[in-house]
Amino acid sequence: MSRGADQGHLPTLRVHHQQRRRRRPRHQPLLNRTKGEVCQLALQSGLTGHVLGRTISCGNPRRTRMKADFNCGYCYPCLLRRAGLIHALGDDPTPYRHHVADLPLDDGKPET
Ligand SMILES: [Zn+2]
Repeated sequence: MSRGADQGHLPTLRVHHQQRRRRRPRHQPLLNRTKGEVCQLALQSGLTGHVLGRTISCGNPRRTRMKADFNCGYCYPCLLRRAGLIHALGDDPTPYRHHVADLPLDDGKPET
């Protein structure tokens, strides 16, 4: 007779998982912060605007032969990033691969 998952293993695993979650609650201090607030906290923690401008937030980063990854400049994370950095720094020093103002309006995708 084989022991199926419904004969005791899954309920035991479920109880074990629930006990682990209760013991170690997640600590997500930035969960309810805006991107601008997160950027301000980063500055208050000692990071410079130059360092923030060199981080990667992109959902579709590109790597060039000579340099590290670039933020694309038009995906949703990049748009949020731009808003957050402008809120915190008054400017966005990020070297984006594309600028939204330069994109064509027909399909929204830049030529590669
Ligand atoms: Zn992007």
